Amino acid sequence: MKKILFVTSEAHPLIKTGGLADVSGSLPKALAELGQDVRLILPNYQAIKTSGDLRFLCSLRVDNRDVSLLETQMPDSQVKVWLVDYPEFYNRPGNPYLDELGEPWLDNADRFALFCRIAVEVAMDRAGVDWQPDIVHCNDWQSGLVPAFLSLEPRRPASVFTIHNLAYQGLFPAESTQSLNLPGQLWHPEGLEFYNMLSFIKGGLVYADCITTVSPTYAQEIQTATFGYGLEGLLRHKKDILTGILNGIDLEVWNPESDPFIPQHYHVASLAEKQYNKSELQRRFVLPVNDHIPLFGLIGRLVEQKGIDLIIDCLPDMLSMPMQLVLLGSGDKAFEQRLQNLAHVYPDQMAVTLGYDESLAHLIEAGSDVFLMPSRFEPCGLNQMYSQRYGTLPIVRKTGGLADTVTDTLPETIADQTATGFVFNDASASSLLEAVKRAMLLYSDKKIWASIQTNAMTIDFSWRHSAEQYLMLYRSL
Ligand code: ADP
Repeated sequence: MKKILFVTSEAHPLIKTGGLADVSGSLPKALAELGQDVRLILPNYQAIKTSGDLRFLCSLRVDNRDVSLLETQMPDSQVKVWLVDYPEFYNRPGNPYLDELGEPWLDNADRFALFCRIAVEVAMDRAGVDWQPDIVHCNDWQSGLVPAFLSLEPRRPASVFTIHNLAYQGLFPAESTQSLNLPGQLWHPEGLEFYNMLSFIKGGLVYADCITTVSPTYAQEIQTATFGYGLEGLLRHKKDILTGILNGIDLEVWNPESDPFIPQHYHVASLAEKQYNKSELQRRFVLPVNDHIPLFGLIGRLVEQKGIDLIIDCLPDMLSMPMQLVLLGSGDKAFEQRLQNLAHVYPDQMAVTLGYDESLAHLIEAGSDVFLMPSRFEPCGLNQMYSQRYGTLPIVRKTGGLADTVTDTLPETIADQTATGFVFNDASASSLLEAVKRAMLLYSDKKIWASIQTNAMTIDFSWRHSAEQYLMLYRSL
């Protein structure tokens, strides 16, 4: 049995801003089910939703700050959660990284450096909880300083650093190294320095014993200039300790047979029932209720990464065909505005809900026929997997985890029953439009459509499979 400290800045259902929370909510549970002793550590944000007991565990002093550790549990599991309680840094409105106006907190470097220092104290069994992990598994830049600090400790546990999205690196002015009291030996271009900035993510990439990312294709892509953001050289240098392990999905939360957020449950043998969810979705978005018109859905952050501009560019062409489109998301204000304007131009075909709405996300997955995910890059992506499980065929760009989880519909993949969606190559509106046209054409052949839905719905996207790969990795360290 391995003892694993899982260091993360968000974990569903305690606190979530994106896919990292889904992973941190599921992977530790799946590892626990494989018999491992896993504990999570994360900051005690104001917005955190704990259920059950929250008990004081210990207090510790680092960097002249008195910090408490509180203990709770992941809902519906035995996995312990340790919350780093330092109200001055974490007890505020807004989300873990941004204030209420959507701007990064000005003291993010201090907030996450303190979080990392506490994680190191726990990892070295200096917090007084009498537990030392074998493995410290860190995630994204917010935990990047942990492997860096650990590298200075004799008899340290092994460290793993997982990149969930290389676009977010935790870059701060060089002066922060002084205010953060960082050990001088970490500050050099082969260390935490990145073009005279302090880079939190480099702490993970340079000092961890092993680096993972969330899909095999993304592991290759980040070693190139297009996806590497200047870190491609370092990642190529580390290629022998860099692997890609696909995320799983929570099969209980995302299950069309028992989903509490959808009006009609269905499964692979009762696909006709799916149409009741489609009608409800059309009603919710105030679109004409019609089972024969293909309904396209999109959920996600409305940012360039997700290829929202490609959709906007080909929308007039798309909507010249008999189809409907519903979108749920928030993000870039310019994209939000343009999408809303377009919805006014095409009120019978397109509707937009701005904001974050978990239950509506489930209804969109269940009620749509096709799911759009034309991302420019996508480390793993979750929605394309949810879609397949709900028999909603995804249109994806061939990048990252999208390339690894969706099989394009071609004569040969229809024949060997591996087709699960539509894949296009170029990050261009015309390439996306072509994939949309292919989907439209196939939609008119109900029999083939149903066979692709069946392929998609029967794929095993369970966390168990991913957790077994992580466990193999831990054992190799
Ligand atoms: P990323 O982490 O890049 O945002 P992922 O596809 O990996 O993208 O994960 C996004 C997660 O957040 C999914 O679970 C998705 O359903 C959810 N999500 C994103 N935007 C919204 C929204 N506006 N409302 C509800 N859920 C959302």
